[in-house]
Amino acid sequence: MTINRRRFLHLAASSVVAPALIGRAAGQERTWRSGTPFTLGVAAGCPRPTGFVLWTRLAPEPFVSESGLLGGISGPTIDVGYEIARDDAFQDIAVRGITSADRDFAYSVHLEVDGLEPGRPYWYRFMSGEAVSRTGRAMTAPAAGADLDRLRFGTVSCSHYELGYFSPYRHLADEHPDLVMYLGDYIYEYIEKRHPTVRAHSDGVEATTLPTYRNRYAQYHTDPDLQRLRAEAPGLITWDDHEVENDYGDQWSANFIAPEQFLLRRAAAYRAFYEHMPLSPRLSRPNGPSMRIYDRFDFGKLARVSMLDGRQYRSRGACYGPPRKGRGHLETAASCPELFDENRSILGTEQEGWLYLGFAQSPARWNILGQDVMMARLRTNEGDLRDAHWTDAWDGYPSNRARVLQHISDAKVSNPVVFSGDIHSYWTNDLKLDFDKPSSPVVATEFVGTSVTATPPPEEQMRRYARDNPHIRFFEPKFRGYVSVDLTRERMQTRYRTVSDVTDPQATVSTLKSYVVESGKAGAIEG
Ligand code: FE
Ligand code: CA
Repeated sequence: MTINRRRFLHLAASSVVAPALIGRAAGQERTWRSGTPFTLGVAAGCPRPTGFVLWTRLAPEPFVSESGLLGGISGPTIDVGYEIARDDAFQDIAVRGITSADRDFAYSVHLEVDGLEPGRPYWYRFMSGEAVSRTGRAMTAPAAGADLDRLRFGTVSCSHYELGYFSPYRHLADEHPDLVMYLGDYIYEYIEKRHPTVRAHSDGVEATTLPTYRNRYAQYHTDPDLQRLRAEAPGLITWDDHEVENDYGDQWSANFIAPEQFLLRRAAAYRAFYEHMPLSPRLSRPNGPSMRIYDRFDFGKLARVSMLDGRQYRSRGACYGPPRKGRGHLETAASCPELFDENRSILGTEQEGWLYLGFAQSPARWNILGQDVMMARLRTNEGDLRDAHWTDAWDGYPSNRARVLQHISDAKVSNPVVFSGDIHSYWTNDLKLDFDKPSSPVVATEFVGTSVTATPPPEEQMRRYARDNPHIRFFEPKFRGYVSVDLTRERMQTRYRTVSDVTDPQATVSTLKSYVVESGKAGAIEG
């Protein structure tokens, strides 16, 4: 008898829930076939003072057929039991109950839990029939106004399954962080053809439909390192482009699919994202191609974290067109005057207003942004690409960036720090009101994490560019890994944690660089 089975019988003996009912769809004898339906692990997200969102998905056969059939499971809804305990042995149960998994959402569970105690760890698990899921751990946020003295979190981005093993996820889990910020490119929709791979996206096709996006997430969630990280700490979650399609923005495909066609693809991609993430069903349940994921989280008086959506509401890329040979999406004032149009936005009007309201009402000493693409200016310096802007990042939305940084300065936002992903390399940046003026004040600090596995940008070219940008204090593309942050009232310590070899499933970890931001003083210093 396995430990899980013993635990289940213990539960059956003591539970207020009639266990024989768990996992049975209304009017049906059998809902899933042999084995376990908990093949994709568990996760927690959206930590609040009195609860969080718990996630799992019943998937006795993780992969969906081409026709969209969910294998080994049937029925419109299935009951799923859950337990939340104050200890990892489930001796001290806080809440126990039954929720449901809907076929319409691939039998995923998004359980919004309330009524817990603030600022403490809980352990949770799900049951279906005789199967019990693995145990996950989640912290509730401290009570509003609590004088929290420490918060530890990690940031991750750009995990391409084919390009490496997810050792960065494993090593971050080993640090037992309070939170993990997922900053985008959590999956890659395409099949790698240009770089050597260590394993394959098993269906061999680019994800473009609901079944193919579902399969991509299912495959990623069978990875033991990712499962472990998700079970270790609650996630704060945003996306970038590869959750849908490379370099898309709003309804605009980088492959020039007609917007009405592309929105069908986006709807499938967003839905599969929702089905696999511990997002709030009240806030984030998708509505066709629309899905609200930007949100903010408070950790007492210590930190307010605003997770931004840099893709869904952005204006069409400046000088929207196929990447040009030798310059990709680099455009200059001369080649693309539209770049500087004040009406162009990366956040969209509503999200930008929401962000400013969040700053105005913030109770926190540290105001942290988690978002997808690099915010700092990256000036280029060669030939007719002198002073060009990469149109897919904040550089492609210079007036929106100037407005946000001016607002941060005018509103005297307390200790603003931005965490970003997307560019597959580490960057430490001073965010300035005017990036062209060395004397312009630093108004915020930016840390850009490297990729978990995805390939870096062209090294020599980027090094030449980086040197010409005095506000860029550090750039390093060689390593894969994550970012680990230890925050107290007085200082934020940020470590760039790199793995020895992403093609080695047993890769070790070390610290490449460590920075301190002192409260009251924008800009990172080594230390
Ligand atoms: Fe990426
Ligand atoms: Ca990206």
